[in-house]
Amino acid sequence: MKIYRYVLALGILLAACAPAVEQVNPTAAPTPSLPAATQTRTIQPTGAPAATETQASPTAEDLFTASGLTLDPPTCTGTLTPSQAQGPFYTPNTPQRNSLLEPGIPGQHMIVIGYVLDSNCKPIPNAWLDFWQTDGEGNYDNQGFKLRGQQTTDSQGRYYLETVYPGEYPGRTPHIHVKVARIPSENVLTTQIYFPDAVRNQVDGIFNPQNLVTLDTRNAVMVAYYNFVIP
Ligand code: FE
Repeated sequence: MKIYRYVLALGILLAACAPAVEQVNPTAAPTPSLPAATQTRTIQPTGAPAATETQASPTAEDLFTASGLTLDPPTCTGTLTPSQAQGPFYTPNTPQRNSLLEPGIPGQHMIVIGYVLDSNCKPIPNAWLDFWQTDGEGNYDNQGFKLRGQQTTDSQGRYYLETVYPGEYPGRTPHIHVKVARIPSENVLTTQIYFPDAVRNQVDGIFNPQNLVTLDTRNAVMVAYYNFVIP
């Protein structure tokens, strides 16, 4: 009887232990929380641009409507916008956004608007533009995407860029770099646009007066107008 009780007690003890072991396994399931953590890490970078994308969700059309800004009917001489050096500060894969404004960026608020036209002055809807520039103190962000962004023209072939007036940096007058094309990576025009009355325009060896914007400084927010003409 004693042996029987001993065996029975042992059996009960083992039975009691068994679920404990099983419970360890489910608890161990979160151990794959390593992949879960990896997943979180993957989400974060993707999440960051997503926030920017949310910011950027209004289209050029929405922004024209909200701002009350209008464009005259497109005009051009048919001359293609001259290309200009890309320079060393281009970063690919920038966020899709029409506004490059972020808290803490120094510089005077400016809106740059215009058409992307073909050589017959016909607006090109869904054309691609990729802008990059310095802040108002002449500094590029070469680690992140500050003052960098790509967008597409609206159904009327208009682009809308909200940004700051760029600063000078050694050797360069204020300018905004841009790539323009009907489709990204195909016959891309790489160029720069400039601002009238910038004192260093005449001493900048790259400056081209054909790439001067028309600048309206009558209001608190400057408005620069420029039509790009591409093949
Ligand atoms: Fe530059």
